[in-house]
Amino acid sequence: MSNADETIRDLPAGETADATARAPATTALDFLSVRDIRKSYRMGRQTLDVLRGVDLDVKKGEIVAIMGQSGSGKSTLLHQIGLLDEPESGEVYFEGDALPRRGNQAAAARSRLFGFIFQFYHLLPEFTALENVLMPAMILDDLGVWRRRKGEHKERAARILERMGLKERMKHRPKELSGGERQRVAIARALMNKPPVLLCDEPTGNLDRGTAEGVRSLLWELNQSDGQTMIVVTHDSSVAAQANRTLELVDGRLANTGSSNGA
Ligand code: ADP
Ligand code: MG
Repeated sequence: MSNADETIRDLPAGETADATARAPATTALDFLSVRDIRKSYRMGRQTLDVLRGVDLDVKKGEIVAIMGQSGSGKSTLLHQIGLLDEPESGEVYFEGDALPRRGNQAAAARSRLFGFIFQFYHLLPEFTALENVLMPAMILDDLGVWRRRKGEHKERAARILERMGLKERMKHRPKELSGGERQRVAIARALMNKPPVLLCDEPTGNLDRGTAEGVRSLLWELNQSDGQTMIVVTHDSSVAAQANRTLELVDGRLANTGSSNGA
């Protein structure tokens, strides 16, 4: 690290430059916590305040659904939580540690902590299902590690695809797959690095009802069997109804809808 010397000088004895900041002891933090995230977009002379101080606490093993009108900032919020974009202010904490917001450290934390599932899959068209699933491991490892562990990674990718019911589709490219199959490849890809948290942005939004229910139940099964923690942005009230908790993004903040489904 080129600026390690400068960074270390400011840290108390015993801490390293890599240690992330601890939250003040007064705020009780959960498995994943978001504090006062703010984000605006500048459009010419106007400023659009999309997130106006979002707080969120997610317990380990919880499925939290987020609803809200189109344009209310749900995708913006998931991007902020998943370290895909920098906020103006605010912090994301994982197990009590504030996560780095920019540069290589943010990218490394993102690869390790979050799996993403999007409405339109975002698979790479030139690559097979298996290669798409391998991609996160390739990004996480440095080249030497990747070469050494490639066989092991391939086996794991194949196992996850099999679990998603895609044993016979591993060599298919995205255009040779149905919508539901593409989303199942995307779920497999999201799981590749065993992320503690899955961030799902309208995961069933592009699928017909039956297929959507299949994808939802696959996600919920991951929660049941592996205790997978998930934040699911959705328009679908039947998906939200099966989450542990549903929140609504209104006027740039998260509001409790009053619906809680216990365990
Ligand atoms: P949602 O996912 O709830 O539909 P988004 O988070 O995508 O909403 O967008 C929230 C608002 O921010 C919308 O009004 C959208 O037009 C605006 N917005 C999103 N991304 C950008 C951007 N990169 N630049 C300017 N405005 C944006
Ligand atoms: Mg959106």
